[in-house]
Amino acid sequence: MPPSKPQDGIALRPTTAYVDLDALESNIAAIRQRVGSGVRIMGIVKANAYGHGLVPVSRALLAFGVDTLGVAFLEEGITLRRAGIRAPILVLGGIIGNQIVHFLEFGLQITASSVFKLQQIEEQAGASGRRAEVHLKVDTGMERIGMHWDTAPCLLEAAKRTKHCDILGVFSHLASSDSSDPTFTRLQRERFEACLAAVPGPWPRHLANSGAILQHPDCQYEMIRPGIIMYGVYPTAEPIATVPLRPVLSLHTRVVYFKVVRKGSPVSYDGTWVAPNDTRVVTLPVGYGDGYSRRLSNRAEVLIHGRRHRNVGRIAMDAMMVDIGRTSAFNGDPVVLLGRQGDEEIRVEELAERLETIPYEVLTSISVRVPRVYVGQAAKALKLNEAVA
Ligand SMILES: *Cc1c(COP(=O)(O)O)cnc(C)c1O
Repeated sequence: MPPSKPQDGIALRPTTAYVDLDALESNIAAIRQRVGSGVRIMGIVKANAYGHGLVPVSRALLAFGVDTLGVAFLEEGITLRRAGIRAPILVLGGIIGNQIVHFLEFGLQITASSVFKLQQIEEQAGASGRRAEVHLKVDTGMERIGMHWDTAPCLLEAAKRTKHCDILGVFSHLASSDSSDPTFTRLQRERFEACLAAVPGPWPRHLANSGAILQHPDCQYEMIRPGIIMYGVYPTAEPIATVPLRPVLSLHTRVVYFKVVRKGSPVSYDGTWVAPNDTRVVTLPVGYGDGYSRRLSNRAEVLIHGRRHRNVGRIAMDAMMVDIGRTSAFNGDPVVLLGRQGDEEIRVEELAERLETIPYEVLTSISVRVPRVYVGQAAKALKLNEAVA
């Protein structure tokens, strides 16, 4: 549980994101339970570990038994290496030829998404005298990167002929695995299978993202790539709760101002809300500059003293106002924007629905201005708060 008071020296600002590593560990254990012990887990930590903090979360995941890390971009992999993380790291995104030398220098696994790119990798590995670690990317219907499933057998053939590459995996990405309609996922899996059957190889296969881990066990293969469920959040609003999850991140602030707004007075920019009666309004020192979307204006609720209260008026860059009606609140009182307070809880999925977006965007929007404080058993053992301070 997050401490009730900000920790001295870390949370100088009342607005803080607590990252509960006990919850993270419990989610990894639940995922492990679901897939069994023989399947390797590649923990996806792209986009600042879905807003939770790239380096501290990666350290914690490795301590919790995750085998490999996955990031989207080269620079995320380099950041992990510079932080001293030696575990295998796959960069999932596409590459541009002149990046290959950096992959080799930092020992990062490369996604080969075409025969041409594989040749570039092979040449540069040969020239540098280093071995390239490569995963082959097959496009089975996402249409992002990768060779289409029907032509990908040439990529697999070409991989067999390389001399300077270690082929560590062959993979594809699912476009609709969290949908209640399994049709497209089944089609993607069939295409993946057909491609692998055309050129059998010894390579570990990986296909399953969070949605597939939750509802398509036949997509597990030798390795899985969970992202959002590690962070305790279901990919969609109607979750298929086959894996019990605990939210890892909670977002807290404190009341910074209290006043009575007179009946008829507009509140905040553009006066989009007018007090229908004399009412008590508190101001919170958090706004869209922290990643709390302006599109939540007049829609979001926050928790104060364990009760829900609605935001009123436009959310500003650094502040937002909340109508607390006839209840009371004092300067410094704790406020929960995401997470639990008393018997009430605001989940990421709820904010995502109010924003008409997906939970991923809510989490990755929390900006660098918000300090992340790591709580739970592992935070001390791994000295994570010192690492980020
Ligand atoms: C982001 C990503 C994942 C993880 O997706 P979740 O839905 O968060 O589990 C897995 N694989 C690839 C290729 C990705 O880009």
